[in-house]
Amino acid sequence: MFGAVFGDIIGSYYEFYPTKDYHFSLHPASSFTDDSLMTAAVCRAILNNDDDINSFGLKKRAYEYAVQYKRYYSLCPTAGFGQMFSAWASSKEMYRQNSYANGGAMRAVPIGYAYHTLEQVMLQAKASCLYTHDHPDAIKGAQAVAVAVFLARSGESKASIKEYLSKKFRYALDRTIDEIRPHYQFDCKASYSVPPAIIAFLESEDYESAVRNAVSLGGDADTMACIAGGIAEAYYHEIPQSIASFCRSRIDSAIYSTVKEFEQKYQVQA
Ligand SMILES: [Mg+2]
Repeated sequence: MFGAVFGDIIGSYYEFYPTKDYHFSLHPASSFTDDSLMTAAVCRAILNNDDDINSFGLKKRAYEYAVQYKRYYSLCPTAGFGQMFSAWASSKEMYRQNSYANGGAMRAVPIGYAYHTLEQVMLQAKASCLYTHDHPDAIKGAQAVAVAVFLARSGESKASIKEYLSKKFRYALDRTIDEIRPHYQFDCKASYSVPPAIIAFLESEDYESAVRNAVSLGGDADTMACIAGGIAEAYYHEIPQSIASFCRSRIDSAIYSTVKEFEQKYQVQA
């Protein structure tokens, strides 16, 4: 689970100072951002209630996720949240928004760890989006990330993960990072940023190369590295010690304790 949080931290500096250099350095000014906070919020929603749902239970479950988004937002409202999300999260009303950005996908990693069937992973990912990202592209992005984690931790090969995601979500995953990078720009639409973040994982050799692939596209670096890092950890089961110690000192204690608790409950290594 820390693979997602560490990806966010490593990408955080490069969200504002984009790089196309694969060999970028881990910048001292790196810190956790909204991606980590919302990932922790999803962890908390699952720790509070990990019952399976059916389609009739979607709305109630969506509300439970939304309550945690507001709660974790309030811990650090300046962590890089977008305007639209901040307006929603700081409101006393529990209304629904239909953002098509990658905010649903950036926090979906825990869902792939906690649930036991593809059908349940798909439903939970949808529920996790309904209050803030109720748009087909955003829901698809969250589902694709959660499903990728689920398949990766289940021991599926990269080829079969790629084939499944391509067919199910109609994502173009045949492009290479080197082909994408020269023209890639900052854009947080889910439809634009989630497929390359998945490719960053598919083309990786280990956790670190997945994160480097994602950041070096020069786009929404923290979110893309959060996604690529989350899937990569589920697949490789290993994060280099040097990265862990760099990032560990940059995590808020509430995020750390929630993610740790989640990891101990759900992330049983094969
Ligand atoms: Mg962020």
